[in-house]
Amino acid sequence: EVVQGIINEMRAVKRREMSETEARECFKAYGINVAQSIPAATSDEAAAAAEKLGCPVVMKIDSPAISHKSDVGGVKVGLKTPDEVARAFLEMTSRVSRLKPNAWVRGVLVQEMVQGGRETIAGVTKDPQFGHLIMFGLGGIYVEVMKDVSFKVAPITREDADQMVKSINAFPLLRGVRGEPPADMAALSDAILSLASLVTDFPEVSEADINPLLVLPRGQGAMAVDARLSLS
Ligand code: ADP
Ligand code: MG
Repeated sequence: EVVQGIINEMRAVKRREMSETEARECFKAYGINVAQSIPAATSDEAAAAAEKLGCPVVMKIDSPAISHKSDVGGVKVGLKTPDEVARAFLEMTSRVSRLKPNAWVRGVLVQEMVQGGRETIAGVTKDPQFGHLIMFGLGGIYVEVMKDVSFKVAPITREDADQMVKSINAFPLLRGVRGEPPADMAALSDAILSLASLVTDFPEVSEADINPLLVLPRGQGAMAVDARLSLS
């Protein structure tokens, strides 16, 4: 109902892209762990949000016109005090308004910082012939340079999801190298499965991605810290 409600609102104003916050709500409704975020429109609100979440926190520019936040200096990780958060707010919003003078900026999101996770990506695209394709890979160069990803056509089973995780070339990195603890593979499969059931329930979703989905050591889960979703 959460997802249907957001989709109805979007249809009413002919909007196709969800805000990060709306996308996060949808993923959460399907059982995916999402990092806690608080919107802030002023430096004081940002500092108060950091106080509430507990430092360190991450700050992200909140604007419907900016989908690649890092490209405009719109992500700052590891902010250690509310004071630092207040300063980062002024710095970030003024930099973004300089680089993107026409973009409407709501403010920022102050987000809990997830530490000790490894970056993975889970996503969905829609193929005119096959329908929804579910995608999984490790973040960063593995996806961008090595194109090391696995795909399955939705709907998928838990075995399919397990297999998607195991079949990327970089899988040994998730199992752990040089004494690193193994990643929480079950949590990855859960998130992939949730994503697949979301798009199976809502065929109008044309694209969705969680980039990154930070996976913690076994038993500690996985957490979505950046979410995108659009309708066809
Ligand atoms: P964008 O993709 O729009 O540039 P992201 O929200 O994905 O912005 O943030 C960019 C990077 O910052 C992520 O890939 C991740 O490495 C790091 N990051 C973002 N949010 C968090 C968080 N809550 N905890 C830890 N690291 C984060
Ligand atoms: Mg991202």
